[in-house]
Amino acid sequence: MRRPILAANWKMHKTIAEAVAFAEAFRPLVADAAAEIVLAPPFTALAAVGRALAGSNVKLAAQNVHPEKQGAFTGEIAPPMLVELGCAYAIVGHSERRALFGESSAFVAQKAAALLAHDVLPIVCVGETLAEREAGRTFEILESQLMGSLVEVPPTRAADVVIAYEPVWAIGTGKTATPGIAQEAHAMIRAWLDKRFGAAAQRMRIQYGGSVKPENAAELMAQPDIDGALVGGASLDPSSFARIAKFEENAK
Ligand code: PEP
Repeated sequence: MRRPILAANWKMHKTIAEAVAFAEAFRPLVADAAAEIVLAPPFTALAAVGRALAGSNVKLAAQNVHPEKQGAFTGEIAPPMLVELGCAYAIVGHSERRALFGESSAFVAQKAAALLAHDVLPIVCVGETLAEREAGRTFEILESQLMGSLVEVPPTRAADVVIAYEPVWAIGTGKTATPGIAQEAHAMIRAWLDKRFGAAAQRMRIQYGGSVKPENAAELMAQPDIDGALVGGASLDPSSFARIAKFEENAK
């Protein structure tokens, strides 16, 4: 059984004060949640949100990392710094980083390997654009991103990696993939992981991301290969993200 993992990607939203207010309001709402719950605030708010979540069942994630341990990399954040902040996870390869900051799958692979070496678990994002989907290239694109981004992950660590399937056309657009379209992509990803990692693929969690809301979370999570969600816009409000994190209650 794979435990669902629901992660909030706040992107460049929330000051420290706003992030702490969220954490304080949010933690009691999900104290009895069955799923694993993760918040990824901006770097500036990680320390304060970590303190506000202390003793709760909500984990902390970074939105990015640099693969080197230290050095002349102005503006970057190293894995040991995330360890010191208490980050359990870090998101790598988000489509915004790939598209806006030119990050390649090879760079994502270095980040994922560096995180694993520090026992911060990577959430590795992959996903096709609308043009790629319309050209019938979805599986080819996913395969190439998976191959490139996971090249440094040994099978012994595969189950520590979370994959986030985020069709670019569904991110921040309000256009969610239908459960059927999402499941089709997740099944393809699982089959690829199986070829690459063998039995560990059954333990790897694959999140769906792209306009997940309280209203559609339960239906998406009911798909056999969807093991959670990476949520942007709908994670900025505590009660909205709590309803997503406790998606089973909406299914009743
Ligand atoms: C995201 O950017 O990871 C995301 C899924 O955003 P949204 O939920 O706003 O589509």
